[in-house]
Amino acid sequence: MPELPEVETIRRSLLPLVQGKVIREARVYLTKAVKPAPEEFVAELKEKRITDLERRGKYLIFLLDTGQRLVFHLRMAGRLVWQGEASPLAKHTTLVLDLMDGHSLHFVDPRKFGTVVLSPPAALPGGLTGLGLEPLTTDKGELLAALEKAAARRSGPVKGLLLDQSVLAGLGNIYADEVLFAAGISPLRPAREVTPAEWERIYRWMIEVLNESLDHRGTSRRDYVDGRGEPGDFQNYLRVYGRKKEPCVKCGNQLVYARVAGRGTHYCPTCQH
Ligand SMILES: [Zn+2]
Repeated sequence: MPELPEVETIRRSLLPLVQGKVIREARVYLTKAVKPAPEEFVAELKEKRITDLERRGKYLIFLLDTGQRLVFHLRMAGRLVWQGEASPLAKHTTLVLDLMDGHSLHFVDPRKFGTVVLSPPAALPGGLTGLGLEPLTTDKGELLAALEKAAARRSGPVKGLLLDQSVLAGLGNIYADEVLFAAGISPLRPAREVTPAEWERIYRWMIEVLNESLDHRGTSRRDYVDGRGEPGDFQNYLRVYGRKKEPCVKCGNQLVYARVAGRGTHYCPTCQH
């Protein structure tokens, strides 16, 4: 699933291509993916200008000149790619936005879990209202305080807390595993037992790992590509995620793969405590 670095890379790649452009027409191919219902969705988008493109957590948000927002969540396997005139429809196309300049944005989603919500001016669509803090732009003190406060209230493992979008917006399975490995903290550790010094370490590595992935334009393991259809290459720099049973890059012992907080989790029992 695209996480913060992937969605941010899509945003950065699309922004110069779509900013200021006018939507000629929306074509909906998967009714359940869009809100409101297709007829209204299509009518509302007609001839609207895209003024900006933002990201919040794993959401990609098109701002329109009317104050409306068009909010994409790519979920498991969605891709949003800018294409030239008369590009053929790929299999599993959910939605196409044709632009007046002859290009179009194709939302292709083999797993069909992705959503596109058009929200009225001044209203935030459902998923966005309960989102937690942004790891890269929130003040360090504020972020650490929020993590420690959330940790004190829960009995579950620290990995579950890092994945909780209502606390921290944008981390998913890949980066939670990578951050905990880099920080030397076991994903199984009860969140409430993580010390302030360890939270500080988690924070530092979270910033480091997310920025490193952004530099590599995200992780392409299966589906993810940026807004121009280009893969990222951070998959070549992952240290635990996807390395089931391989030797640990720090100590050489075999990595462990287990279910933690309901998700497949990669870690080193020797290096992570
Ligand atoms: Zn190790």
